[in-house]
Amino acid sequence: MKGAARHGRFPHPIPLRRVGEGDFERAARVFHVNAGVSAPLIELEAVHKRYLMDGVAVHALRGIDLAVARGELVAIMGPSGSGKSTLMHILGCLDVPDSGRYRLDGIDVTEMDADALARTRNRTIGFVFQGFNLLARTSALDNVETPLIYAGVAKRERRARARALLERMGLGDRLGHVPSQLSGGQQQRVALARALITRPPLLLADEPTGNLDSRTSAEILDLLVELNRSEGVTIVLITHEEAIARRAGRRLRLSDGRLDDGGPAR
Ligand code: ADP
Ligand code: MG
Repeated sequence: MKGAARHGRFPHPIPLRRVGEGDFERAARVFHVNAGVSAPLIELEAVHKRYLMDGVAVHALRGIDLAVARGELVAIMGPSGSGKSTLMHILGCLDVPDSGRYRLDGIDVTEMDADALARTRNRTIGFVFQGFNLLARTSALDNVETPLIYAGVAKRERRARARALLERMGLGDRLGHVPSQLSGGQQQRVALARALITRPPLLLADEPTGNLDSRTSAEILDLLVELNRSEGVTIVLITHEEAIARRAGRRLRLSDGRLDDGGPAR
């Protein structure tokens, strides 16, 4: 028996104190967090994106409607050129739709300026790509620490958190290795740790196993599934591989800029 059960309903007397400065701000923050829980993390409404190439418009996204709930693991499939990366860039606040709405965590990002967009991105989203995009002459530990520097976390805590996460990724004995001294699978684990070190609620992965052999791909996928289940990280994963998509909670198919909701994977 522990906690409230052992001590009765209220284990400690509740200290009485005056309502102070900061209390309302705190209450508002709690309210915001709770209000956000029921809303989908991602909501796209009639999103269109065109590129202009030599005066010719390429209609990359033709009216995407999509809602992703917190804690979902969604796989997006589709042939080359169907708009997967364009969709990912918009989901990741790296680009904005030409028309339509995108609400992320309940907030309309289509109204934001570039600075606000960047702040939202840093706070909410972790990215992993096919090419691992690690800093080449920088150790695994330093690669993973870097986002915490921008987040203003003190040196000692940065080290401790980066080390703990790399250990969890099975890289405890590779902390000082630079990317060229690591296998592809190990590099992608470092990239995953870097994406998750700021504890973002959303992870976007654009063909994260595209450069890996099938066994290593399966290991990275196991890790993603585990992070999704144990930490509740919402994951949107672009993949070409049916075997990988089958393990997602939901599979979506993009074709010529349109989304076809395939429903639950199983
Ligand atoms: P996928 O990731 O599914 O292969 P993309 O989203 O990269 O597809 O591309 C969708 C379409 O938009 C393609 O026809 C592609 O050629 C075009 N496209 C993508 N990015 C650009 C760009 N920056 N400029 C012009 N056309 C682009
Ligand atoms: Mg692509």
